[in-house]
Amino acid sequence: MPSYQAPVEDAKFLLNDVFHIERYSNLPGFSEASPDVVEAVLGEAAKFCEHVLTPLNRIGDKEGCKRAADGSVTTPTGFKDAFKQLVEGGWIGISSPAEFGGQGLPMIMTQLVNEFLCSANLAFSMYPGLTQGAIAALTAHGSAELKALYLPKMVAGEWTGTMNLTEPHCGTDLGLLRTKAAKQPDGSYKITGTKIFISAGEHDLASNIVHLVLARIEGAPEGTRGISLFVAPKFLPKPDGSPGARNALSCGSLEEKMGIHGNATCVMNYDGATAWLIGEENHGLTAMFTMMNEARLGVGVQGLAMSEVAYQNAATYTRERLQGRALGGAKFKDKPADPIIVHPDVRRTLMTIRAFNEAARALVIWTAIASDLHHRSDDAKAKQAADDHMGLLTPVIKGVLTDQGFANTVMAQQMFGGHGYIAEHGMEQFVRDARITMMYEGANGIQALDLVGRKLPKDGGRALQAFFAEVQGFIKEKSADAAMKPYLEPLGKAAGHLQQATMWFMANAIAKPENAGAGSTDYMHMFGLVALGYMWAKMAAAAMEKLKAGANDRMNAKLVTGRFFMERMLPETAAQLARISSGAASTMELPAEAF
Ligand SMILES: Cc1cc2nc3c(=O)[nH]c(=O)nc-3n(C[C@H](O)[C@H](O)[C@H](O)COP(=O)(O)OP(=O)(O)OC[C@H]3O[C@@H](n4cnc5c(N)ncnc54)[C@H](O)[C@@H]3O)c2cc1C
Repeated sequence: MPSYQAPVEDAKFLLNDVFHIERYSNLPGFSEASPDVVEAVLGEAAKFCEHVLTPLNRIGDKEGCKRAADGSVTTPTGFKDAFKQLVEGGWIGISSPAEFGGQGLPMIMTQLVNEFLCSANLAFSMYPGLTQGAIAALTAHGSAELKALYLPKMVAGEWTGTMNLTEPHCGTDLGLLRTKAAKQPDGSYKITGTKIFISAGEHDLASNIVHLVLARIEGAPEGTRGISLFVAPKFLPKPDGSPGARNALSCGSLEEKMGIHGNATCVMNYDGATAWLIGEENHGLTAMFTMMNEARLGVGVQGLAMSEVAYQNAATYTRERLQGRALGGAKFKDKPADPIIVHPDVRRTLMTIRAFNEAARALVIWTAIASDLHHRSDDAKAKQAADDHMGLLTPVIKGVLTDQGFANTVMAQQMFGGHGYIAEHGMEQFVRDARITMMYEGANGIQALDLVGRKLPKDGGRALQAFFAEVQGFIKEKSADAAMKPYLEPLGKAAGHLQQATMWFMANAIAKPENAGAGSTDYMHMFGLVALGYMWAKMAAAAMEKLKAGANDRMNAKLVTGRFFMERMLPETAAQLARISSGAASTMELPAEAF
């Protein structure tokens, strides 16, 4: 059975030594996040994830969710009790506003805790994860009345949330959606339609489920300009806030799927369900985007989390499995063979995953700080810069961390040889569970298009310029330090490739957008590599400081892992640049019938 140990020490290194979160103590919630509190929160979260959620991961996979004839859904054995513990620990609302019962701690804490939850049990983590997304959308766009009624229950975890976008004929292209909303004399709406693939749409973990639903009000324009967002609870709240009459919505069936069996993926039928508008009529996509952006970062974290837990188990196995002898002669002469970790190709695999995980965690924290600055700072310039950062980095984090996260689960599985294909070791479950992260919340091809088509040109390229300025500013600031050369030189080269690719798009994609479309996934991954490279340069600088102050082997390991990234992973940007600047011709030339 696989095991998991939450990377608490690594998280503390990032918060304290790389990003110096004490610098933000003027922001609400940060002064409460003192080192003691951070230690306690991460420590408690780690215990819960390691001891409660990890053992339920396999059970959830084997049992799955079950739907009864009346449409009710039961989650796997142990999920209900674990959810009760999650609620009692106040984990859902650790970063939610205190006025709704949250702890108001910075978003960085939520992202770290969510990484632990996802590593331990991805299917389980989606119940609180979707609730957090729904809380964010209601907080940003709900009326005071809706907020007062729903948020305290959701922040406490008494009620959970969902997001209902997808319909059978409408996934990526939400403009096609058909679910209808009819306005009622009392100001509420009646929703009618079918949504598919709705995660956590029905279950037995909470006393009410709050569905956020995209629908078209009768008479609204076609396409995305006619979409509105509604809240449709499973039970209509009574005036005192307790769950009342059953609403006209139900789970029609559960999807049978490749992974995340412990999460209920539901077909949801709305048969004139009572609902209330969130935000303005026909502005539903803007409101839903608040939830989707939150969720996209969350899904990026899922990719990292799966990569981390797969890495940990692969690392343990490669230290124990005896096969063959080291190339330079036996290392463990007393044993019948050496452990496979002596083999360079095994180490290449482990180092590749490890170098990704540590930098990806830093990238998530860097972006979570931007989220905190955006929501909590009262400095207009800082807020704007933080918003730019999040807009630019969200598709990168979603797309790159899940593409690579999945690839890493496969690489980690490979370390087990044939045993990785056998269910007992749990590696094949990680592969199956991680696969969905590349598809939902906007398939990764769409993330790449969002980056290239929307985020790069937005505001005259302001966000991108700020990103380059920060990376180049860091290189300049540290360039006098010879020890930093192995990190700064490759980073400067890769950032140069990214600039060249950006200029190539400017010169070749405006007249011929297919040139951008054909290069977008390469560009997103190139952006990811440069951003991860920047994280490694920052971590290397912090590790050197700690070593000077007498720190331990962990910091030496950081420097070696960072060097591996710079030497063996970052040079991929040269190939990406070559592919991008070859244009769309060979991609687009064959007619559709030829495929
Ligand atoms: C387990 C699971 C859980 C889910 N949970 C939820 C949920 O809670 N709520 C919810 O609303 N939905 C949910 N979804 C739905 C999910 O978000 C969609 O499946 C996803 O957005 C893709 O839509 P689609 O499946 O219709 O694919 P399509 O839109 O048909 O796309 C198919 C492929 O074509 C590509 N493609 C499409 N358009 C373009 C384009 N313009 N340019 C380039 N490439 C393009 C896509 O990248 C994709 O690879 C879930 C799905 C699954 C499987």
